[in-house]
Amino acid sequence: MTAVTWLDEREDEAKALDEGDASGSARGSFLLPRDDTASGYDTLAYLAGNSLGPQPRGVAEDVRRELEDWATRVVEGHWSARRPWGDYHVALRAPMAHVVGALDDEVVVMNSLTVNLHLLLASFYRPTTDRFRIVIEDAAFPSDSYAVRSHAAFRGFDPDDAVVRLRPRAGERTLRTEDVLAHLAAGHERTALLMLGGINYLTGQLMDIPGITAAARDLGITVGWDLAHAAGNVELALHDWAPDFAAWCTYKYLNAGPGSTAAAFVHERHLADESLHRLSGWWGTDPAVRFEMLAELTPIASADAWAASNPPILAMTPLVSSLAIFEEVGMRAIRSRSERLTAYLEQLLAGGSGEPAMDVVTPSDPAARGCQLSVSVSGELAEIARSLRGDHGVVCDVRPPDVVRLAPAPLFCTFYDCWRAARALRAAAS
Ligand SMILES: *Cc1c(COP(=O)(O)O)cnc(C)c1O
Repeated sequence: MTAVTWLDEREDEAKALDEGDASGSARGSFLLPRDDTASGYDTLAYLAGNSLGPQPRGVAEDVRRELEDWATRVVEGHWSARRPWGDYHVALRAPMAHVVGALDDEVVVMNSLTVNLHLLLASFYRPTTDRFRIVIEDAAFPSDSYAVRSHAAFRGFDPDDAVVRLRPRAGERTLRTEDVLAHLAAGHERTALLMLGGINYLTGQLMDIPGITAAARDLGITVGWDLAHAAGNVELALHDWAPDFAAWCTYKYLNAGPGSTAAAFVHERHLADESLHRLSGWWGTDPAVRFEMLAELTPIASADAWAASNPPILAMTPLVSSLAIFEEVGMRAIRSRSERLTAYLEQLLAGGSGEPAMDVVTPSDPAARGCQLSVSVSGELAEIARSLRGDHGVVCDVRPPDVVRLAPAPLFCTFYDCWRAARALRAAAS
């Protein structure tokens, strides 16, 4: 197989790149699974951090401490635990705000991603009989599509009429900003809300979040972003870009574990707006009066106002260690390493020595993507996935109809992992 021969010659180069460049990496802070295949590597090449990040080393001890505090302090742990449970989410607010470039008060850690979208849509989807449309991307993550369709139906609209899906041009796989803007300009009188993925889960395309947000707001359209694939992956400046709201999960690039607690952003301009309706609960009231057991909520001018329930401690604990890594390394260094790793992977997928390039769907402009490269393949997806994992110890994933997603997340992936993934994909898909 010539493909593998050509790449084999670059193995030493990949190793040398790692020796010369560990900046932006925190690989030692994660537990990475051992390679259990016959391929002979130490660890699996884990390029599925866009789906579920690996476990930060500090998590087990942090969870153990919570279990111990629960066992020994019981109800008193709400105020006397080493990290008091009552305002556990408050301690996570600042590091989470740093990840997305928000003010502390604009961010709250709570619930799961889709639930947060529902809470935010309840407040920010304010349709009128004339202006009721919700614009999403056609390749929206299914949960987002289901969520907005259900809100349209809830307000008495036909989802097929109310939800408009943006499609790429014929023969193209990603959206052009100019087409998004033209669509908004043409339909704005009917459009109440725009809700897009900051980075599309399937194509890996990073949207022009500031440009699209500003244009939509100028047209009087409310703007929300799903940042599931953007938070912890690319640098964001949510406060300055000023969308109305955003939400993201924490088990992908934020490495906080399966089903870990998600987060939401509400721009500062809305925090003291008493005309906004919310689906409220007691953790959204002013903590100073929370235990006075009043019949009416006392408004609080922060994103905490959207928190309904008391925090799920065991689902939040992994965030302590995971966000500490982000605080330590910083999004600038993480993104910078990410650009180097992804460019290297792209170069290896581009072929050489007469070898054809693989069909990368993700934009080649580094400013229009995060770490993920989505590769369109013609073979049988399930068999390709099996071979990557079983024969080569490369963990990534496939999404129908034809996409293999490779995400060299910079905190724990190496240039060598990129080389392994490129080599395995060439072998499995050619
Ligand atoms: C991962 C992901 C979800 C998952 O939703 P959960 O509520 O966390 O299960 C939703 N939307 C997008 C865009 C995603 O990437």
